[in-house]
Amino acid sequence: MTDATDSDNIEDNTAQAMRLAAPELLDLVHESIILTDADGAILFWNAASEEMYGWPRKSVLGRTVDALFGTQQYPADRQDAWQGEIWRDGADGEKRLIEVRCRSDRAPDGRMRFIETGRDVTSVREAEALLQKSEHRYRNLFQAMAASFWELDFFPVGEMLYRLRKTGAVNDYESYFAANPQFVREMMRATRVIDINEQTVRLFGRGERKELLGSVEPFWPQDSTGVFAASVIAAITGKPNYSAETRLRRIDGKEFDALFTACFPPDTMNKGTLLIGVIDMSEQVAARAAVAEMQNNLAHAARISMLGEFAASIAHEVNQPLAAIHANAAAGLRWLSRNEPNLPEAQVSMERVVEDANRASEIIGRIRTMAAGGTIKPTVLSLNAVIEETALFLRDELRKNEIQLFLDLSEYAPKIVADRVQVQQVFVNLSMNAIQALVGSDTTEPKLELLTRVAGDDSVLVTVRDNGPGFRPDDLPRLFDSFFTTRKEGMGLGLAITRSIVDGLGGTISTENRAEGGAEFRIHLPVFANG
Ligand code: ADP
Repeated sequence: MTDATDSDNIEDNTAQAMRLAAPELLDLVHESIILTDADGAILFWNAASEEMYGWPRKSVLGRTVDALFGTQQYPADRQDAWQGEIWRDGADGEKRLIEVRCRSDRAPDGRMRFIETGRDVTSVREAEALLQKSEHRYRNLFQAMAASFWELDFFPVGEMLYRLRKTGAVNDYESYFAANPQFVREMMRATRVIDINEQTVRLFGRGERKELLGSVEPFWPQDSTGVFAASVIAAITGKPNYSAETRLRRIDGKEFDALFTACFPPDTMNKGTLLIGVIDMSEQVAARAAVAEMQNNLAHAARISMLGEFAASIAHEVNQPLAAIHANAAAGLRWLSRNEPNLPEAQVSMERVVEDANRASEIIGRIRTMAAGGTIKPTVLSLNAVIEETALFLRDELRKNEIQLFLDLSEYAPKIVADRVQVQQVFVNLSMNAIQALVGSDTTEPKLELLTRVAGDDSVLVTVRDNGPGFRPDDLPRLFDSFFTTRKEGMGLGLAITRSIVDGLGGTISTENRAEGGAEFRIHLPVFANG
């Protein structure tokens, strides 16, 4: 019976202690303690309750907890003992989550009463929820991302490096790793896989998760050792992350192109763990290779077409002086083969032959410089002078086709900075086009006009126009395209070359049909100085 006596004593003593020291004792605890009668009217409210809810004791005594907190506080069917979490408003109107334990008790006078302890768990639960959310998010990311993720135990590598450093023989890891690839392979063997996501199993494995949970060494082909070494260097030199394109190996031995990324956040590094992401780049690399090949082909095609343009432009430009040489030489021969040779006329013809031959050789020289990658030679040119030279050059063609040439050159036409032969080429091209258009038309008084005008402070306008058939409106947007031609023997390069020259000079070229019939080209060129 000793037990019974002992426990009776303990109960007695406890009851006595409670009676003597209860209010003081209850004010010392951190939890809120609320004593109510059977109807919920508050009989006692400790200091922690005052602090937790903000109401002083005397303001709550006699009020029911339901009235105080504004809602029914306990489930109607609660038993003698109940515990749960309840949202309560305090005196400040703020909600707090209270973990409540409550049980019934019988007062010395035999009446029922309830005792409740409460703990404010708002911030605890919030923190838990946040943690859970972030853990959830991390797990989600880890598992559900399209990338392969690895969590690695890097700690043994840390130890290896520490031991290495302690030998005192190594202070430059980078060159040490480069010279000792077997040490890097050792580090790979020491790096263990802690966790992998499903994508990793899909990418590296054969469906079995556990066959990947060893060391990382099998996944690194020999040729990729340097990338692993570089990632270790990045980790130990405090870089936040490292990423590189490299070849990696599946468990079945097949290699693939991958984007490898390692993150070294300080908190995981301190734990000796490492997060690795791998993205399969096979398709991208294949696509990139295809694009590179396509670009190569295009560049080749472009070179060929450039060559074509080039050849065409040589033919086009050299043909003019050759034709003129032919005509003048023939004329010279005729003057000489007379019974009484007309030497002065023959001399004029020969002089023209020399002039045209010079022009042809200038063009060839110019093309040769271009072909040799030489740069064009810009000089300060009088635009009017260049146009007059062009006129000279066209003389025979115009005469042959009975086309009138009108030059209207502003005496204020400024100088430009350009390569003489290039500018000649522009006017020759446009004029030849006009001549060809006029020849193919039934214009009664065919004429070609070249005009220069000052166009503001910094530009000069050259107009080349004819009274031929003009352009078909549909063709206008395509005139300057390479290989656009409406002529049977045309190549469709004259205007493309013309525009590229004008662009190169910083100018613009536009074209339109004239209201009175015929085509008109307008070229604006930047000026050097008035003159
Ligand atoms: P090509 O002379 O070899 O056809 P171009 O690039 O020099 O190549 O000219 C392209 C086209 O522009 C010509 O085929 C022609 O239809 C049109 N064109 C150019 N100049 C004139 C012009 N003065 N009058 C009418 N059409 C022209």
